[in-house]
Amino acid sequence: MARFHPEPEHLLQFAQGSLALSESLIIAAHCDMCTRCQQIVHQHTSILSAEIFDFPVTGEPDPARFDSMFEHITQLPPLKGKIAPTPAQTSIELDGKRFPLPLTLQRILCKTGSWSGLVGKLWQAPVDLDTTGLATFIYMGRGGTVPEHTHRGTEYTLVLDGEFCDELNRYRTGDFISMSHEHIHSPHSDSLDGCLVFSVLDQPLHFTSGLARLLNPFSHLFFR
Ligand SMILES: [Zn+2]
Repeated sequence: MARFHPEPEHLLQFAQGSLALSESLIIAAHCDMCTRCQQIVHQHTSILSAEIFDFPVTGEPDPARFDSMFEHITQLPPLKGKIAPTPAQTSIELDGKRFPLPLTLQRILCKTGSWSGLVGKLWQAPVDLDTTGLATFIYMGRGGTVPEHTHRGTEYTLVLDGEFCDELNRYRTGDFISMSHEHIHSPHSDSLDGCLVFSVLDQPLHFTSGLARLLNPFSHLFFR
């Protein structure tokens, strides 16, 4: 059971469809892993759709309205050709280990670039979402450390497998972590099998200490 979840306001905006694509993606992936947030989003969606379709929230929908909707759908011309289902990739294999992914992230594997090694037992694979913001899979090997940094914008991280900790907390599989310019941290993993996370940034990181500060002019290249 995850200990860290998106803010209630964030879940409402997700249900309303008002978030940026990269944010929606990471919240949807968290909901795949968290029944608590899944239920909250489901409740928001029921209320919002009742408002849109003018159904009473607790009552039954108007059957006549469903009949006309069904009639409209069945009158649509049939699709030409066949869409053959392609076998979906459901996990990431790294360093001889297999990491199963939540359904939402399985769908973006086709947009994921190749893995590259960074400093401190870190590997990353960028996801090309054709949109603003940076989405990345990051794998921290055992003892892997991200240099101390703060954030110009917001950094969302979802722990997909394993654990990591920073100066503030310890995070486990399913946890959703939100960091802003108020937070300075240096995540590291001591998990035996390392830690796989999915991370979304709206601005590049800003490294704050030691030699890592030299990375700042290049931080738009690092973590993308
Ligand atoms: Zn949750």
